[in-house]
Amino acid sequence: MSVRLNYVAGAFVDSTGRLEDVNPSDTREVVDTFAVADKALTDQAVEAAASAFPAWSRTSPETRADILDTVGNEILARKAELGALLSREEGKILAEGIGEVVRAGRLFKFFAGEALRLSGEKGASVRPGVDVEITREPEGVVGLITPWNFPIAIPAWKIAPALAYGNTVVFKPAEIVPACGWAIADMLARAGIPEGVFNLVVGPGSVVGQALVESSKVRAVSFTGSVATGRRIGAACFESGKKVQLEMGGKNPLVVLDDADLPTAVEVAVNGAYFSTGQRCTASSRLLVQSGIHDRFVAAVTERLKALKVGHALAPDTQMGPVVSAEQLKQDMDYMRIGSEEGAHLAFGGEVLEREAPGHYLAPALFTEATNAMRISREEIFGPVACVIRVADYEEALAIANDTPFGLSAGICTTSLKHATHFKRNAAAGMVMVNLATAGVDYHVPFGGRKGSSYGPREQGSYAREFYTTVKTAYTLA
Ligand code: NDP
Repeated sequence: MSVRLNYVAGAFVDSTGRLEDVNPSDTREVVDTFAVADKALTDQAVEAAASAFPAWSRTSPETRADILDTVGNEILARKAELGALLSREEGKILAEGIGEVVRAGRLFKFFAGEALRLSGEKGASVRPGVDVEITREPEGVVGLITPWNFPIAIPAWKIAPALAYGNTVVFKPAEIVPACGWAIADMLARAGIPEGVFNLVVGPGSVVGQALVESSKVRAVSFTGSVATGRRIGAACFESGKKVQLEMGGKNPLVVLDDADLPTAVEVAVNGAYFSTGQRCTASSRLLVQSGIHDRFVAAVTERLKALKVGHALAPDTQMGPVVSAEQLKQDMDYMRIGSEEGAHLAFGGEVLEREAPGHYLAPALFTEATNAMRISREEIFGPVACVIRVADYEEALAIANDTPFGLSAGICTTSLKHATHFKRNAAAGMVMVNLATAGVDYHVPFGGRKGSSYGPREQGSYAREFYTTVKTAYTLA
């Protein structure tokens, strides 16, 4: 069997270790085998990126735009094939896999345009005869560390702006889903990215990720993943004087008021909590439901979950794929036990399912009678699990929505303009949705949160330049 190699200094290079990318829908299937980088190879990648930086940072933005646009076009042209690859390695259903691939292609094309749009400012100095110019320059070598839940979109929304603004990149995908990251490396290589400008190193976070975070030649690190790892990386970056951007967890509230349109609220809740197997940092994991609609809402969501087809990600009738790994399934099951022990009522699901193929299948779970003090309401589970908390009125719903260590996304289902407007203004979250799922965002506007969810500047849209550039102020006596 062929082995997918690391991409370092413009060449695909081997290393001694091997890892298998296993399909969570059918654990007998190895999607691909990858060469595992060690610290030495990671350091080589950083060296290559550092050597390539001066020339790349001075290229015409048109050169950078053309390469990114070529990759974006290829991703879009290969959406069916790459979508299937994504579904095979991560487990989200094919429609979701293709949707994520399209988003990745669009991100590359968006940042191709942004490369040309970067502009500065010129102003009058307080000193007569002096001009002041404010320009943006790339940071240098950036280390990009990504999680398993969006194997192509998250790499795309870090790699594309990093390159667009003239940085060089060492990219480490999550080791359980390296295939989509490798596909990006392959496309960039064929699109003519100069030697050393983009490097891919596949391997464990504790080795490859750590080497990136510790390297004195890496100027900035962008990370998406768990809170615990993010905080460790943030502390290490602070210690070594690096710029850092962290996108971490969420415990996103969806408020359902008595005046909500019930079918809309049910659809929004089921989509937000269970699509992509609930493995989204923006998932609606806390459903704050007003007393008057509570029982009808719970009954309707339960009916919908009963009908939700859980199965192989590539089967045409599957609506929810497997959990990504045995470790994640164990984490989900641990929370199922914790929720019951805490006194929440498991109204539906939560059991491991047998399917024709051996995979990590879990029935979508709905807890009711939960309180906001329970661990299942405070900690990110990262599976197809939601808990319903009953609330008396809008004011209580808003207070509970904001009573969380996180602040990524928050949603409300209501037909009241007054409550929708108030919620948009007062939800302590980076993204707010009205009659829409808390998950599912556009690619051309900022993404990120507050409190424990995010640290550093926003990702995506033109706001991405805050992280991937640094500002220079120049004075000239004319
Ligand atoms: P991690 O935070 O552990 O991993 C995210 C990325 O960081 C991976 O590429 C990982 O590498 C890397 N990494 C791990 N340790 C280090 C380190 N010491 N230095 C540098 N990089 C490191 O998340 P997991 O994928 O392990 O998932 C664990 C839990 O995190 C999930 O159950 C979920 O709760 C949460 N999570 C949240 C996400 C979100 O978007 N909010 C996304 C994914 C997970 P590798 O995995 O290859 O070892």
